[in-house]
Amino acid sequence: MFGIRRFWAALLILLLVPIVGAAKPAVINVRLGLHPDKTRVVLDLSEAPEYRIFTLPDPYRVVIDMTEVDWQLSAGNPPEGRGLVAALRYGLFAVGTSRLVLDAKGPVGIKLVDLLPGKGSTPTRLVIDLESVPESEFIRQSQGAPLISTPMMASLTSTFVPPPPKPMQSPPSTKPVIVIDAGHGGVDPGAIGTRGTTEKSITLAMAKELRRQLEETGRYKVVLTRDTDIFIRLRDRIAIARAAHGDLFVSLHADSHESSEPRGASVYTLSETASDAEAAALAAKENKADLIAGVDLSAENNIVTNILIDLAQRETKNLSAHFAAMLIDELGRDVRLLRNTHRFAGFAVLKAPDIASVLVETGYLSNPKDEALLRSADHRAKLCEALLRSIDSFFAWQETLRRS
Ligand SMILES: [Zn+2]
Repeated sequence: MFGIRRFWAALLILLLVPIVGAAKPAVINVRLGLHPDKTRVVLDLSEAPEYRIFTLPDPYRVVIDMTEVDWQLSAGNPPEGRGLVAALRYGLFAVGTSRLVLDAKGPVGIKLVDLLPGKGSTPTRLVIDLESVPESEFIRQSQGAPLISTPMMASLTSTFVPPPPKPMQSPPSTKPVIVIDAGHGGVDPGAIGTRGTTEKSITLAMAKELRRQLEETGRYKVVLTRDTDIFIRLRDRIAIARAAHGDLFVSLHADSHESSEPRGASVYTLSETASDAEAAALAAKENKADLIAGVDLSAENNIVTNILIDLAQRETKNLSAHFAAMLIDELGRDVRLLRNTHRFAGFAVLKAPDIASVLVETGYLSNPKDEALLRSADHRAKLCEALLRSIDSFFAWQETLRRS
């Protein structure tokens, strides 16, 4: 009798262990402690993660990468910046990698990293002490190897790598491919509304609704650059669109302003020279997404941030402007528009040379009325209906061009 019970108990344990073992460590709390000579960052965890910690210049940042964790943070998390830390944010950075980014107030050195195992009700703690250091030391540290828990963490996939583009021989007369780009994601929340609404969640909800509406027509193939709460580099968003042989790229965003006054939607296309100072400032803000997520831009050759338009892009630019005009017409029927609605500037995410691309700011999260509207599924559906109508007009117009 006992033998059989013990057999079942052993079998149950054998079955449960892999499930329990596969559970992600949970981050329960993040604290900042002030000391005369250092700022202490403490992460309380359910179990020990693997980690990789490094610093990045321009602006000063400390990046803590961990194997994917569950953010089960209690109220008051993450804390406000204190001591040497100006601000912090967290989220999924890539599949399998979670990230905490600390914006530092100046050059900081990582004085100590300690992983303290939990005991009883005491959680596992990852402790990082930061101290103020001279600029030269900060630079030296930023160029050096990250502090890692295990050798595996040195080669951690740092970002999503899109599949290589397929050879350019897609069969003719297939459905137009619409690439919908939900702005921001993961460790980069984008704008944050008066009620705490994140731009990344609004753009994702809207991307999914637009996909649903487009697919329902049966006329389009739809590709989303992301369909979860994950960070994607700007250049990878373009690479996904190109790999999918996109015919139209629509990047969805929601703006914010220091003042709660401005409201309404607006549409942007790419240009070397901005239509106005506000559009230039907006592009600069949107182009910071990689920086906010702790991507080392110094290691890249600035293909994305350097906005120079080549000849091949001129035609695309005209197509994009046409689509923008159609979209504004359709949006204007149903939703409030910002004045001077079609504007242009150096938006990095619109840089695919061969795909008509627009960026839509769907409204202002800093305006309580716009925020309430963007939180409403009905309003998002209305915005998507306007997008669908303009997409229909755009491809119908291209078809007449081809025939004439
Ligand atoms: Zn945005």
